[in-house]
Amino acid sequence: MCRHLAWLGEPRSLSSLVLEPEHGLERQSYAPRRQERGLMNADGWGVGFHDEQGQVRRWRSARPLWAEPSFASVAPVLRSGAVLAAVRSATVGMPLEESAAAPFSDGGRWLLSHNGKVDVGVLPATHEAESVCDSAVLAAHVFAEGVDRIGEVVGKVAAADPGAYLNLLLTDGERIVAITWGDPLSYLVEPDGVAVASEPWDDDPRWVDVPDRHLIEVTRDRGVTVTSLE
Ligand code: GLN
Repeated sequence: MCRHLAWLGEPRSLSSLVLEPEHGLERQSYAPRRQERGLMNADGWGVGFHDEQGQVRRWRSARPLWAEPSFASVAPVLRSGAVLAAVRSATVGMPLEESAAAPFSDGGRWLLSHNGKVDVGVLPATHEAESVCDSAVLAAHVFAEGVDRIGEVVGKVAAADPGAYLNLLLTDGERIVAITWGDPLSYLVEPDGVAVASEPWDDDPRWVDVPDRHLIEVTRDRGVTVTSLE
């Protein structure tokens, strides 16, 4: 299973969000603390963010995050107030390629990461997916149905594939939308923004664990709502 992270708030550097925290995504790529399936997340990584004009920018790779000195060199000067990052542990049978690494894009403002697995046979066939990877097909389905209906969409996919794990994390630069469905998410409200992550990047006691099968929404004014999906 993968690990992912979203930040919404004042601009922070990508290195301060992804590389520097003691138990942040880079560390989680080889030593996650709360991962129940898979030991490592070495099958690629991706960071997406909104630039000052609100344009989505992405940097993805099929290599492990810890083996990316060029990204580590540039990440301290890349800053954004809306960031979505992921490290990948590929599901058996899924392609090992850059385009299978989250975050996926709708071509507009939305970025999406999926931590889990789903039978692509229960999803509508689409030409819109960035990869044949299950997460890319799921992302295309969520975008096509509309992010505002995400709770309903996830419920229907889970009913069609009861073995699915459907932990989702999205941002459009104005809000974070996330779902816990089989894997954990925690959030941290900071004075300058809100982080939502598969696992806390440090041992700060202010991290809040979200219960399973819940919808989380974070707004730019640092409002957090957590709603049961059942
Ligand atoms: N199924 C997705 C993939 O193969 C995500 C896997 C995961 O969450 N580890 O990339």
